[in-house]
This record gives sequence, C-alpha cells and structure tokens, in this order.
Amino acid sequence: MERPVYLDYNATTPVDPRVLEAMLPWFTDQFGNAASSHHLFGWEAAAAVEEARRQVAHRIGAHEKELLFTSGATESNNLAIKGLFESSPDKKHLITVRTEHKALLDVAAWLETRGVSVTYLETDTEGRITADQVAGALRPDTLAVSVMWANNETGVLQPVGEIGALCRKAGVWFHTDATQAVGKVPVYVPAAHIDLLSFSAHKLYGPKGIGALYVRKGTPLALQMHGGGHERGRRSGTLNVPGIVGFGKACELADPDLSALALLRDELERGILSAVPGTRVNGSVKYRLANVSNLSFPDVDGEELLLQLSRIAVSNGSACTSASVLPSHVLKAMGISDERAHASIRFSLGRFTTPEDIRFTLRYVAGIVADLRRSS
Ligand SMILES: *Cc1c(COP(=O)(O)O)cnc(C)c1O
Repeated sequence: MERPVYLDYNATTPVDPRVLEAMLPWFTDQFGNAASSHHLFGWEAAAAVEEARRQVAHRIGAHEKELLFTSGATESNNLAIKGLFESSPDKKHLITVRTEHKALLDVAAWLETRGVSVTYLETDTEGRITADQVAGALRPDTLAVSVMWANNETGVLQPVGEIGALCRKAGVWFHTDATQAVGKVPVYVPAAHIDLLSFSAHKLYGPKGIGALYVRKGTPLALQMHGGGHERGRRSGTLNVPGIVGFGKACELADPDLSALALLRDELERGILSAVPGTRVNGSVKYRLANVSNLSFPDVDGEELLLQLSRIAVSNGSACTSASVLPSHVLKAMGISDERAHASIRFSLGRFTTPEDIRFTLRYVAGIVADLRRSS
C-alpha cells in the first residue's frame, strides 16, 4: 500500500537524518551513564549532555543552568505546575486558558481536586486571549499563570510577551507550554519574561521521549521525581543520553524562518478555500504558526470525511476518548459548533513537505469533499 502524504507534523515529526547520525554513537560505543563520575565512559556521556544542554538552552535564549531534561512536554508541564503549587501551599489560584493542551488542562483539573481554584480564560472566536483578561483574573492568592505560546490544533499564537510582562509586574509566576512554538517562531525567554517553559524534541525533528523545562533562576519547584538527585536535584533518573544529544542537534538545526513553508501552507489553504465552497479557516490567520491550516468543511460528515481521506495523514477536530468521539475542546472553546468541529481537518506541514505533496493534497481533498457532498 502506498503510504499517505504526511501532513501531521504537529502530532510528531520524523527524526532528521542529521539528528539520528549524532545520536547513534551514544547507543553503542559511548554508552556510559552520565552520572558515572569515576571513568571515561561517564565523563564522555556527561560532556555530551552538557554540550546538548548548551544547544537546547541557546535555542530559547536561556542559560544552560536554567534548563533541565525531562521525558517530554507532558512531564515538563506536570513538573512546572505541580512543582509550583506544592512549593507555595499558601497560594491557591491558577489562571489558564480553555484552549490549552490536555497536558496542561489535566494537570489543572488534578490540582482542583487538591483545593486549588482554577480560572479558565475564554478565548475570542479566533482563539486568542489578551493580557487584559489575565490582569482581570488576578487575585491576591494567584500563584501562577499558564498560557501556551502556540496552539497545537489551530497554530494560534498567544501574546505571551505581554502576559509575561504583566505577570512579572504582578509578582505571579508565568509558565508557557511552548512545545509548538520552539523551532517555528523565535522564542527568547528573557524578552518574554518567562519563568517556566515546556518543550519537546519530537515536535522539532528530534526523538520522542525527551523534552525540557526551562526554570528561571529563583523559581521555586517542588520535586516530582525522587531518586538519585540528577539534574541538580530537580528531576531524578538516569539521563537519556542519546535522546538528549539528539534534542541538542535538533535545536541546533532548528531554523524558525518558515517563510518557504508558509508559501506551501498558503497555497494549500487558498487552493482548498477556492475549490471547496463554504470552507472556513479555524483560528486567527494573522497570529498563527506558518505550518498549520485548520479548515472546516460544512455539509459533510466529519467521520466520513476522515475515513475517506486515506491517502493523506492528517488530524481532525475530534478527540477520541474511551467512550465516544467528542468535538475538539479547542474548537468548541472558540465557539465553533460540534458539527463544524467534527468536520474540521488540521493540516500541519513540515521540513520534508514538498510542493508535490501540497498539489496532490489540494486536488485530492477538493475531490473527496465534492464526492461526499454529491452523495449526501
Ligand atoms: C505534543 C504536545 C505536548 C505533549 O508533548 P510530549 O512531549 O509528547 O509529552 C504538550 N503540549 C503541546 C502544545 C503539544 O503540542
């Protein structure tokens, strides 16, 4: 069977061949434990980890001492938010947004069961919030604000710099899930006044199972993983040396200038909008990642549409839970109807997307939607 055209880069990316090459020796010849301080094997591994830490920190404008490695953005979000609230039990209020990733919303929901009160800001119909909304939600017992940099479903960018400045002035900690932003837009933590930032290698052409949390100097975090005291005592567990080396290489290669990719995305989006009457773009088109187009196709059944689109690999506006297929919480939060959310498709392009991929997808999608409409 011919493999589908991959347009799901926001779900995960392939490992760049240059990243793989950098990783390989660390599985075999140079297999040491970075915590082994008495022999060459350990020293080599520790040096490779520190070199990678510099590369990863450099990507976000951080000092390498402020960066700790985790298993991915899910763990980074857990450590950031649970770590903050456990360290300051006298403050019990968190501000976040309805359109966050589940890896943040589920942490917030868990904190609610432990007595933390959470304000979920509503976005406008374009998926954005304002710094003023954050200011209006602040309370004397607010400990932290968490707002993602870029949304994984729509690509919509939040005004993190303004929110960061506000939080710094108000004396509350600011965390951002920047998993979709790093490598796609310039991310510079000092300018955005960020205290904690989560990201992950497998969204930027690195391997799965490795991520990082930026922790600005002086930010209190209670440990979530007890053990051998790795990562300056903040996250125990033997370091994933090949993964870390790959993450470092991926960060070195990441070039947030996506202007070429933006042209392909625009060609796809404009092409579908003009070929398929009634198609709508979900989310802001002005404040958006260059690689994403989230479109809804009225008058077709969403499940049927995804089933038919077997020659492209994309995501749709639904989330499968064990019990049922629910409309995406992100699209719902933007005021989009359940029906339209189900009939939404997220196209996310990346480094290896070709003009041929886009031309094929355009013709293919337009043809399938027309067929479905005729038959309904
Ligand atoms: C993919 C993603 C995550 C989860 O990252 P993992 O490294 O897979 O745990 C969290 N937040 C956002 C915005 C994501 O896109």
